[in-house]
Amino acid sequence: MKAKKSLGQNFLVDQNIVSRIVNSVSPTKDELVLEIGPGHGALTEMLMERAGWVVAVELDDELANELQNKFSESNLTIILADILAIDINELINKELDLHPHLKKKIRVVANLPYYISTAILTKLIASRMAIRDMTLMLQKEVAERIASPPSNKDYGILSVLAQIYSQTKILFPVKSGSFRPIPKVDSAILQLEVYAKPLAEVVDDDLLVKILQGAFSQRRKTILNSLKSVASQVHPQLLTEHIIDLLRLANITPQRRAETLNCQEFAQLTKEVYKYLEARVN
Ligand code: SAM
Repeated sequence: MKAKKSLGQNFLVDQNIVSRIVNSVSPTKDELVLEIGPGHGALTEMLMERAGWVVAVELDDELANELQNKFSESNLTIILADILAIDINELINKELDLHPHLKKKIRVVANLPYYISTAILTKLIASRMAIRDMTLMLQKEVAERIASPPSNKDYGILSVLAQIYSQTKILFPVKSGSFRPIPKVDSAILQLEVYAKPLAEVVDDDLLVKILQGAFSQRRKTILNSLKSVASQVHPQLLTEHIIDLLRLANITPQRRAETLNCQEFAQLTKEVYKYLEARVN
């Protein structure tokens, strides 16, 4: 079967890397693992040996069939679906209902299709309450962006979102020769351990995302000017002349650039904007 480029199919062929990934997860017999894009099952098989149950979501029907035939009557559920189109919480709850002895917080493992890796990560973060950790193969630059600290050129929307809710760590790089077909980019394994309590309280996830999109829309500008130029996209009720006061209320100097703000400051700004919008709408 020919690999489908359009589905981001670069299969892991290096058994040493497979073992390193599964060892860095070390699932136990009382745990449920969600694997995204199992492909030919390079990771799946080893995950099944170690975990209580594996649920694998695959979009390619040929691959899903292949796995179904290969691993019939085992501790594996294969879902033929687009991970971006399914309700992840519903899927997890269904599997946990079927296997009540498993721990409620699941492990996520994936060699992600890179063309939608950030969309998948954003979706997983939204389902974080059901997740203990995520161990993900990503394009190296994307992994670096997510794990980047503030005041760094790589720091951006995904870094803030990931780091508010989880401890992020790049575990190791993976050379392109570990895949077939060989991708044009280098890869890395990123692990995100979801915090029991986020680094900062977020009053409204969607509003935080909008503020981040606005703040990082023009990285070279001050946060004040960036937010001013896209105020109506952050919220139709947010007036440009009020942004300076909102920044001050959040203890953020308006002349700073977005990339210097840490997670707590973005969360605080979200809180101030939220209170302001509530007052304006009511
Ligand atoms: N896990 C396998 C491995 O490590 O060899 C395959 C990894 S490959 C990089 C990505 C896998 O994700 C492919 O099997 C591909 O068909 C699948 N995939 C692509 N888009 C998907 C989507 N939207 N939902 C679920 N799976 C998807």
